[in-house]
Amino acid sequence: MKEDYLSIGKRRKLIEEIRKAGIKNEEVLQAMSEIPRHLFIEKNLERSALLDHAYENKAIPIVAGQTISQPYTVAFQTELLEPAKGLKVLEIGTGCGYQTAILLKLGMKVYSIERQRELFESTKEFLPTLGFTGARLFYGDGFKGVPVYAPYQRIIVTCAAPYIPDALVDQLDKGGIMVIPVTKGDTEIMTKIIKDANGQISLKEFGNFKFVPMLPNVQR
Ligand code: SAH
Repeated sequence: MKEDYLSIGKRRKLIEEIRKAGIKNEEVLQAMSEIPRHLFIEKNLERSALLDHAYENKAIPIVAGQTISQPYTVAFQTELLEPAKGLKVLEIGTGCGYQTAILLKLGMKVYSIERQRELFESTKEFLPTLGFTGARLFYGDGFKGVPVYAPYQRIIVTCAAPYIPDALVDQLDKGGIMVIPVTKGDTEIMTKIIKDANGQISLKEFGNFKFVPMLPNVQR
């Protein structure tokens, strides 16, 4: 794997910044410190000048009009998910696979779905080149989830949902957690949904974030 000391140093700095911003889950920080974010960005950039920003705490536009989320947002959302080894997690919006890689690093059984064929194909090819094997990647509409492998103990939605899709709530296991940014006006409210042992749902909101929209159907 192409890793230079400069990238490792910049990444270490970024992780410290995220820690100072309030992320406490050491496993999440550790996973992020081991993943070469710049390679995910490099692979998907239209303008290579943006690569210089790989280890700044900001979102970066990539191919197909998509964005790789701000590192703090990724860390915050992953922490809220209460990740743990061996849990089955469904990710909506594979994108460039950065979040997928974090979930794999955390030892989770990852199922991830993407609606853009171009991104789906390239990420499917790219992840194994960095040693990230074992994720099951699907091309399809995340509003429908991936019912064949349900239920999932965790669901993470990495695009802004106009509402909480019923199919995803149905596919969440009892005792499970879903983290989903829900659009309200021109911002997204990070929302944690907990399904208790009896199948009862409760919701908690965690402030405003910015995501690309969750869109219906697939794009060829
Ligand atoms: N987790 C990704 C984030 C990518 S941005 C990463 O780490 O890079 C969000 C992604 O959600 C985009 O790739 C977008 O195409 C995808 N998306 C939007 N609506 C979707 C839907 N209905 N089903 C599946 N993916 C969707």
